[in-house]
Amino acid sequence: MPKMHIGFDDTDSPTTGCTTYIAAILVQKLKELGASFTDYPNLVRLNPNVPWKTRGNGALCLRIKCKQESVEEIRETVIKAIHENSDLGYEGTDPGIVFLLNHVPEQIKAFAKKTIQGLVRIRTALRIVNKFDAEAVGFKRGRGIIGGLAAIGEALEGDHTYELIAYRALENRGTPRRIEESSIAEMNDKTSPLTFNNVDPETERTLITPRGSDPILYGIRGENPKAIIEAHRIVRSDEPIERWVVFRTNHGTDAHLRRVSSIAQARPFAPLIVSGLVAEDPKVIAGGHVIFMLQDRTGKMDCAAYRPTGTLQTVARKLIKGDFVEAYGGIRPASPTHQMTVNLEKLRIIEKTPRVALHNPKCLRCRKRMKSMGFGKGFRCENCGFRSSRLEKVIVELSQNFETGLYIASPRSQRHLTKPQCRYGRENSNAPQKMIREWHYP
Ligand SMILES: [Zn+2]
Repeated sequence: MPKMHIGFDDTDSPTTGCTTYIAAILVQKLKELGASFTDYPNLVRLNPNVPWKTRGNGALCLRIKCKQESVEEIRETVIKAIHENSDLGYEGTDPGIVFLLNHVPEQIKAFAKKTIQGLVRIRTALRIVNKFDAEAVGFKRGRGIIGGLAAIGEALEGDHTYELIAYRALENRGTPRRIEESSIAEMNDKTSPLTFNNVDPETERTLITPRGSDPILYGIRGENPKAIIEAHRIVRSDEPIERWVVFRTNHGTDAHLRRVSSIAQARPFAPLIVSGLVAEDPKVIAGGHVIFMLQDRTGKMDCAAYRPTGTLQTVARKLIKGDFVEAYGGIRPASPTHQMTVNLEKLRIIEKTPRVALHNPKCLRCRKRMKSMGFGKGFRCENCGFRSSRLEKVIVELSQNFETGLYIASPRSQRHLTKPQCRYGRENSNAPQKMIREWHYP
């Protein structure tokens, strides 16, 4: 039986639609056509820093086996479903679909990595599609072909996670989501850390439900399908669930971050990990955001910890000149008003320079702190009148009010791809050999 990879992307707009929902519909339709899935639908988040993304910049890949005689009908079903469910009226929505038969060549895997970590052109995607006899279908400008091909190439053979997404009935979309808050807390207590980012710990805000008018009721993320299905059974909603699907994803894996050895290697829009010295004490700018300059022997760049990053912003403002740190995040290109800037997602404090202060000396007679009589003019005791021109300021080591180590933006401001603290040491490897029986409804 032929194996078929179906990748697609860029079907949604900021206001409507959702590429994962089309995948969920197709799961049902393709099964009805006799296809058997060889993997959970793959939800692949691409570089979150590209300047033209819609929302989450997630692409989908369905991997199936089917009879030779069904191939054409499956192909038509996919094209029709994407055509009908894309927000084609929206200016920036340019859906694309790629079909590939049998195995996934290494060059497509390499293309996927580039699409997750950097910028690629549609020309490159089309050249690869032709080279490997794949088929690309684009609507409008067809930019979704890039994501479709990348989703096929990202076989999630390394670290990966899962997300169960539950969808709302058509008549409820656009209305407030009716989920019992207490059941989300209960679900979190019972299933974390095998599920993650359910609730923001600082604000207690629910993170599993989106805000907008899209069809998603909630999405539960976790380390394996069993844990998220169990979590889904604990959550109580007072509205019907039209369908749900378990996706295998690169969420929470840091797949977008590329470690570079020097600041000179930083490129606009390519998320990175880079280390350097804090070149000046941080500045707190309007809005409570913290900016500091990072420097190494090859150059310098700004790092920004925005206020919603919570713990990250708090630790960034405690840095001082001379601290040695590692910055993780997306790159904003230089502009007339600022230089190239890392929008921090994480910050590792590797080595702190000693925190010291210069104090006036104590009086040799009465031990009270003396007053300076001006630069180079010595000190005078206001208590007993003792003066000295030979005494000097004394260096005092300040208490250390934070630890070295890794700091991560608070869950409420983490990107889909950001690896949360609780996942360190829990990395999944290899694609699963077997799928659980019930990974979707209906
Ligand atoms: Zn004195």
